[in-house]
Amino acid sequence: MTRLAFFDTKSYDKFWFDRLKQDYDVDIHYFESKLNENTAPLAKGFDAVCAFVNDHLDETVINALSENGVPLIAMRCAGYNNVDFKAAFGKVHVVRVPAYSPYAVAEHAMALLLSSVRHTHHSYVRTREFNFSLNGLVGFDLFNKTIGIVGTGKIGRVFSDICKGFKMNILAYDPFPHPDFDGEYCSFEDLCKRSDIISLHCPLTPESNHLIDKAALETMKDGVVIINTSRGGLVDSEALLEGIRNKKVGAAALDVYEEEGELFYEDRSNTILEDDTLMLLISMPNVLVTSHQAFLTDEALHNIANTTLENIKQFREGLVMDNEICYRCDTCKRVLGQRCF
Ligand code: NAD
Repeated sequence: MTRLAFFDTKSYDKFWFDRLKQDYDVDIHYFESKLNENTAPLAKGFDAVCAFVNDHLDETVINALSENGVPLIAMRCAGYNNVDFKAAFGKVHVVRVPAYSPYAVAEHAMALLLSSVRHTHHSYVRTREFNFSLNGLVGFDLFNKTIGIVGTGKIGRVFSDICKGFKMNILAYDPFPHPDFDGEYCSFEDLCKRSDIISLHCPLTPESNHLIDKAALETMKDGVVIINTSRGGLVDSEALLEGIRNKKVGAAALDVYEEEGELFYEDRSNTILEDDTLMLLISMPNVLVTSHQAFLTDEALHNIANTTLENIKQFREGLVMDNEICYRCDTCKRVLGQRCF
């Protein structure tokens, strides 16, 4: 039986992992705390740790896990920008869940877009107070608008299909164009200039960090709508706030925020937030923030639990791990068909 230390546990994680764990012979110890330098010793004696998007898997934590004999980090998410996988190489194997429901995230992106441009979140609050006024709720049609999709991977392509249903014009930028993408590719600069709405669906890497910054915002159409369901660091929050203030940006809908790590997934309603930028963004009438919930559907949670447990089983049985990642993965795993190390 594999003993798994599960960090940053939420009730919905436990529900799905408890339902499936007996099929995989895994014994799970749930920790509510995030995995970081202080909590890494809790993993001593376990066969694997399971971590999520806001756990801190930097070099110190990786070394602590390795020294405590933990051979496997099972990320229960797709993105792995919070894992120093270069430090992990040769010490601790890292696996992830590359796809669990691109529909969950793409549909949430569309929900954010529709709410932003039709103000349904404001209407909901108003009518609960029996305020039936329509002043300030004028929106615009999505029909015939140009949507710029940054990243045409699994989620970006599903989002593109949804947008096609609205008969929008589809533009996309991706340094690695996908043969199944049915739309027009252009440069990032062109996408910024031509799009009425920009939706981000690419990973956070050193190259994409602050992709949407002051300079990019300046080239965009006045009133551009920015949707980010990918990773907070793709957007320079200060520049976005400035863009909202000077009315360059017509609306922004953010499921992710660059400094979300200590805030999102927790009830902070009784604390004074120290992040002025986030407070100001949330206070703007044309900014809609959700707390990294785009993945949160029954289907996605079931698939996350299933794939994570399958990843652990492959490790235990000494098989090639379909979802292993390392810093040189593009060459080693695919060509040699073996474990990363
Ligand atoms: P994917 O790997 O299938 O696709 C990513 C695409 O982005 C690829 O086509 C890649 O070529 C492209 N890309 C890489 N660098 C780029 C750049 N600098 N500019 C433009 N495109 C670039 O990934 P996916 O499953 O579609 O997920 C996309 C992202 O969504 C993930 O990296 C993750 O950060 C985010 N995500 C968020 C949630 C959420 O709950 N909010 C859930 C899952 C994934």
